[in-house]
Amino acid sequence: MSKVDNSLMDYRPPITVVVGHVDVGKTLLLDKIRGTFVAYREPGMITQHIGLSFIPWNAIERIADPLLMKFRLKGKVWIKGFLMVDTPGHAAFSNLRRRGGSVADLAVLVIDITRGFEEQTYESLTLIKSRNIPFVVAANKLDRIYGWEPHENAPFLDSYEKQREDVQGRVEEAIARIIEEFNKLGMDADRYDRVRDFDAQVPIVPTSAVTGEGLADLLVVLAGLSQRFNRDKLRITYGPGRGVVMEIREEKGWGVTADVVLYDGVIRKGDLIVTAGLEGYVSTKVKMLVMPKPLNEMRDPEDRYMFMDEVRAAAGVKIIADGLEQVVPGAPVFVVPQGASLDEYVKLVREEVSEVKIETDKEGVVAKADTLGTLEAMVIYLRSQGIPVRKADVGNVSRRDVVDASIVRKKNPLYGVILAFNVKVPHDIEVEAMQYGVKIFRNEILYRLVEEFTQWYKEQKTKLIEMELDRYIRPGKIRILPGYVFRRSNPVIVGVAVIEGLIKPGYPLMRGDGKRIGTIMQIQDKGKNIQEAKKGMEVAISIEGNLMVGRQIKEGDELYVDVPEEHVITLMTQFKDQLSEDELSLLREILKIRRSSK
Ligand code: GDP
Repeated sequence: MSKVDNSLMDYRPPITVVVGHVDVGKTLLLDKIRGTFVAYREPGMITQHIGLSFIPWNAIERIADPLLMKFRLKGKVWIKGFLMVDTPGHAAFSNLRRRGGSVADLAVLVIDITRGFEEQTYESLTLIKSRNIPFVVAANKLDRIYGWEPHENAPFLDSYEKQREDVQGRVEEAIARIIEEFNKLGMDADRYDRVRDFDAQVPIVPTSAVTGEGLADLLVVLAGLSQRFNRDKLRITYGPGRGVVMEIREEKGWGVTADVVLYDGVIRKGDLIVTAGLEGYVSTKVKMLVMPKPLNEMRDPEDRYMFMDEVRAAAGVKIIADGLEQVVPGAPVFVVPQGASLDEYVKLVREEVSEVKIETDKEGVVAKADTLGTLEAMVIYLRSQGIPVRKADVGNVSRRDVVDASIVRKKNPLYGVILAFNVKVPHDIEVEAMQYGVKIFRNEILYRLVEEFTQWYKEQKTKLIEMELDRYIRPGKIRILPGYVFRRSNPVIVGVAVIEGLIKPGYPLMRGDGKRIGTIMQIQDKGKNIQEAKKGMEVAISIEGNLMVGRQIKEGDELYVDVPEEHVITLMTQFKDQLSEDELSLLREILKIRRSSK
């Protein structure tokens, strides 16, 4: 890589993402932050971005001054602002990936204060934690707390002071519920102004995206968290650009374009770049670099963009170039400096991509997702659930995926499946999967996709175990009911009560002294043949064997199923979780009888 001139170093604003369950107010919160602080900005200093919004620190200072005094941050904050990622949710967060971590520096996990934790809250947390990103909780929809009196754009702490006591109580209860959920996950959390140790506790800031309350607090806490960064983390160079593809989209007149977050270095028109496609790496020359015009210079909607000769990190920029249609979101983008070898950069791309794509011969599921970022999130999530992955790849479900899953299926039917996240399953592939008996799971929500699979897995596993268990003779104990001898011999037919366990046709019977007396031929309940009788049932059974009631057996006798010793051992070891305590103790009793009678 080309040398970097150290005199030209600077710090970029932390890249900040907003994640959380659907409908908690992520979009509105972002809109409100943009609207509120962009209105306070100073003219001339704003660069517009593709996919990011710059929230300048000096704009935040104007409404957060009292808080900065309170938390002794005034004059100390060295970041220049935040780059908020405009697209909320974890698809965007997932795609902001780089080798070994995230391009995002900070995260806001939004929770609806009136609802607490929801399905995707857990999923967002898994992702944030796996990438090791400092985060703050926005407990949003504060204005929905019954009786809340809004104060437009006020810091939460100011507005809270002015609320009635019962309203304050309801806010506290809601926060306590969120804290409790964190505690259940083994994490500590508290209302942000009570947090003593930001390394150990998750700060919670109540907000309203409708009234703007709490936004100042939220940004001050984010600033506080970034104060704690090692400054090197945000250091940028003016070396060759490095970024990540957020989105690939077709634009009228420009063809397929890539929206890229450039997190380091410089990219110039005419630069050679390398990135990753569905079928390997893509190298191409930058034809145009596009950024939005500052709002005040935008005269008509047709005239929204500026064409740049060069763009410096950190920035959101649209790249126009040939060959981008193959590129996958989440892929790294490297500028190849003049004179450097393309191979070296191709290798870098390969290494990055091979961190996410998995190709093994393990017994595990086949995972397919639409972008490199979502694929990585999916693999992280599957692993957090203890599900092994044989293969993980980007793109629609293909014939090879079906073949892969069917190979696994032969060895382990429960893992021979395909999990398809946001990708298509062509009709002919679906038919082929059916022929191979390969099940394909599909869902647009990662959490649900994995849950559907685990649910199915558990059901199948129970079925398999039951089938396995059926191959063994299970323990049972019966009593011959006095007055219910229907036939004394050839064969014996008697009424019995099942006292413990179960009996089935074909099961051998013994007496309490270990003497084998015969085998059950048929079991009848109310005149109908049945295949088993369980504890508590009274049935009629016929017994095959050289036997007569009154000789070898008599009314009132207790008989046992004569479970072969190997079956007893297997049941007591391999199947002990499937048997009841009573069945296990009956097995011990049977074993004792067998051993003492020999
Ligand atoms: P997202 O799915 O998380 O992006 O949620 P949205 O931003 O689309 O919000 C979902 C719904 O909740 C919309 O109807 C919003 O108007 C509403 N909403 C979002 N934030 C707030 C809030 O702070 N207070 C109230 N009362 N409604 C909100």
